[in-house]
Amino acid sequence: MRHPLRAAPLLLLIFLGALSAQPHWKAGTAAFDITPQQPLWMAGYGARTNVAQGTAQPLWIKALALEDQRAQRGLILSTDTLGIPQSIHSNVTKRLQHELNLEPRQMMLHASHTHCGPVLRRALYDAYPIASPEIARIEQYSNQLEERIVSTVKEAFSRLAPATLFASSGQTRFAINRRNNLEEQVPTLIATQALKGPVDHAVPVLSVRDPRGVLKAVVFGYACHNTTLSFYQWCGDYAGFAQSTLEKSHPGALAMFFMGCGADQNPLPRRELRLAERYGNMLASAVEETLLGPQDNLEPELRSSMESIPLPLGPAPTREELKQMSAGPAGGTTRWASRLLAELEAGRSFPRHYDYPVQVWKLGARQWWFALGGEVVVDYALRFKKEHGESTWIAAYCNDVMAYIPSERVLREDMPPRANPRWGYEGNTSMYVYGFPAHRWAEGIEDRIAASIRRQTEALR
Ligand SMILES: [Zn+2]
Repeated sequence: MRHPLRAAPLLLLIFLGALSAQPHWKAGTAAFDITPQQPLWMAGYGARTNVAQGTAQPLWIKALALEDQRAQRGLILSTDTLGIPQSIHSNVTKRLQHELNLEPRQMMLHASHTHCGPVLRRALYDAYPIASPEIARIEQYSNQLEERIVSTVKEAFSRLAPATLFASSGQTRFAINRRNNLEEQVPTLIATQALKGPVDHAVPVLSVRDPRGVLKAVVFGYACHNTTLSFYQWCGDYAGFAQSTLEKSHPGALAMFFMGCGADQNPLPRRELRLAERYGNMLASAVEETLLGPQDNLEPELRSSMESIPLPLGPAPTREELKQMSAGPAGGTTRWASRLLAELEAGRSFPRHYDYPVQVWKLGARQWWFALGGEVVVDYALRFKKEHGESTWIAAYCNDVMAYIPSERVLREDMPPRANPRWGYEGNTSMYVYGFPAHRWAEGIEDRIAASIRRQTEALR
């Protein structure tokens, strides 16, 4: 008599054979530890006065390579960085186009927006008090990072193997609208259920399983600044803790985070390591819950599209304004004004628009995934869910983080005189830290972005 256990590998082979005969996804993963080994300036806060002093948690880049039944490919890259600057996006995508034949529309380069990661090439240089030795180290690290991204992505594509993909959505509530609730009042506002302002508490989840049903990768998002911490240690913040928690409970699986439209949302209260861990655990739990619940099995079909749309800048600062601002107390704004003044004096003119990336993916028959560049406020996510369906995923901080992207409401609220003392940054002066020769974007950018999404979804439908 045949031993019953002997039949098991045979059954698995028959199952795998059946799967390979049917249309299916292929997926491959790879990851690389990018924690800086050299002293480097930390990104995100202009008030820091020194380089990083140690590591609370390693920083990662992680790649998920996808291929559908028609051999259409897609790349999802998650990074524990403040943002991928335009130069890094451009260098990396050019090389991947050349080496893997991937079009920019097929690549989503996400940034977790941790404020405990390194400053990258030419990103927010006016914001930090850095001198040429630091800049040389930043350039060197950025070159290395580009190499690492390319090799990690190639590794992920070399590992493509049959897989199934599922979409689901959970919820967690630690994101708080930072424009409408003063940070010091938040504990009381939570206790009295008096929090105000729009939020998006959805946790979109893409899970990838091998033919045996074992979790291979889980990609999840949340619309909240990744800024629990502001210390001098490398750390992925709440998004880093959520990823490491999920990877602990699913050995061998890669957990990858993408930022949603959380530019006006903060994890509050904050500034303590235990709070970053707490929010990370909450987010990981929300993901775990969705993995236990009903999930949408995605047909092996990936369509992708991308546009670069010119977004107009608001009025440029005048020479008089720049003179006045450059004479202020030393800091980011005076550095910005002095640099622009020098450019004017050298006879250079300022650009009046920025080429802004808007990307649209469709997974299976129904699942939309929009990926926007920059620090996008929550109004965009709420609007796109209304216009394209509640289950739509909206990533921000993707492909290029060049500035805040306020909605028309936020642009309006931030024009002086302002009705609320917390208003004025996202829609107005935040352009200075990003180095733009403007106080704000021009009116109408929200509709331009929405029109690009509409054009692309119609073309992909
Ligand atoms: Zn930010």
